[in-house]
Amino acid sequence: MLSRALVLKVAEWPAFKNWIKHSRMTRGLVERFIAGEDLETAIRVTQNLNQQGFAVALDYLGEDTTRPEDAENAARQYILLLEKIAETGVNACISIKLTQLGLDLGYDLCKANLECVLKTARDLGNFVWIDMESSKHTDGILSLFCEMFPRYPNTGTVLQTYLYRTPRDMERLLELGARIRLVKGAYAEPLSVAYRSKREVDRQFWILMEELLRRGKEPAIATHDRRLIRHAKEYAQQIGLAKNQFEFQLLYGISRDLQKQLVAEGYRTLIYVPYGEQWYPYFSRRLAERPANLYFVLKSLFRG
Ligand SMILES: Cc1cc2nc3c(=O)[nH]c(=O)nc-3n(C[C@H](O)[C@H](O)[C@H](O)COP(=O)(O)OP(=O)(O)OC[C@H]3O[C@@H](n4cnc5c(N)ncnc54)[C@H](O)[C@@H]3O)c2cc1C
Repeated sequence: MLSRALVLKVAEWPAFKNWIKHSRMTRGLVERFIAGEDLETAIRVTQNLNQQGFAVALDYLGEDTTRPEDAENAARQYILLLEKIAETGVNACISIKLTQLGLDLGYDLCKANLECVLKTARDLGNFVWIDMESSKHTDGILSLFCEMFPRYPNTGTVLQTYLYRTPRDMERLLELGARIRLVKGAYAEPLSVAYRSKREVDRQFWILMEELLRRGKEPAIATHDRRLIRHAKEYAQQIGLAKNQFEFQLLYGISRDLQKQLVAEGYRTLIYVPYGEQWYPYFSRRLAERPANLYFVLKSLFRG
C-alpha cells in the first residue's frame, strides 16, 4: 500500500507536476475535484448544488504564500468572493487557509489580512471556516482563531483526528463555544505527532465525534466514511439531536451518491467547493487519500 507521505513526495516532482497540470488525460480527474479556475464558474457550481439541496463552503485555493503582496491579494479575493455571494444570494460560506493569508510571513501580517476578511463576512452576515493545515501550523492557526473568535463569532475551525493533541484542542474550542469541523486530516505527518493507521484515526474520530455531537455548537462532521456517518446518524438520534442541528460536510466530487443520499434523507449537508488557479496542492492531497486516484494518473502517464 502506498503511503500518504510517498504519494505527496511523488506529487512534488517537477516533471510529474508539470505533466498533471498540462495533460489532457488527467483533466477529467482534476475537474472531478476542482470546480473551476474562476469565480464565475464557482458561483455557477454553487447555484447548481444549492438547487439540489446542498449548502456550500467556497475555498479560493492557495496556501504557503511567500510574499506579503500575495497574502494581501488572497484576502482581497476573499472579500470579493463574499461580496459576490451576497450579490447573487447563493447559499455559501467561505473556507480559508491561514498560510494563504501569510501565516508563515508573520502572525501580525496574517492577523491583519484575516481581520479584513472576518469583518467583511460579519458585515454581510456570512460565516468563515478556517481550515486546518500541517501540524507545524496548528498552534498558530488555533492561537489566531481563539484571538479573533470573541470579536468575530461568525467563524469556526477544523480539528484533525489523526493528531494526538486533538482531544485537548477540542476541549479548548468547546469551552470557547466555537463551531468545529471534525476531519481525519490530510497532510503527511510524522509518527511523533499523529496516528498513521486507519484504525487508530477512525477510533479517535468515533470518540471525538460523539463528544462533538453531545456538546458542540452546530457540529460539522466532515468525512465520506460511511461507517462513521452511519454512527453519527444513530448517535445523534440516540441523544435527541435533530437532523438540522448538526451538519455533514463532504468534498466536491467525492462520494456523490452519498452526498445525494444524505440530502434525500433530510440531513443538513454542505459541500466544500474549491476553485482557483492554485489547485495543485489540494489536488495532490486528494491523490494521496486514495491510491486508486494515483494509479489512474500513472496509467494515463504510461499510456500517453
Ligand atoms: C468538508 C471537508 C473539509 C475538510 N477540511 C480539511 C482541513 O481543513 N484540513 C485537513 O487536514 N483535512 C481536511 N479535510 C480532508 C480530511 O482530512 C480527509 O483527508 C478526507 O476527508 C478523506 O478522509 P475521509 O474522512 O473521507 O475518510 P477515508 O477513510 O479517507 O475515506 C472514506 C471513503 O471516502 C472516499 N474517499 C475519501 N477520499 C477520497 C478521494 N480523495 N478520492 C475518492 N474517494 C475518496 C472513499 O470511498 C473512501 O473509502 C476535509 C474534508 C472534508 C470532507
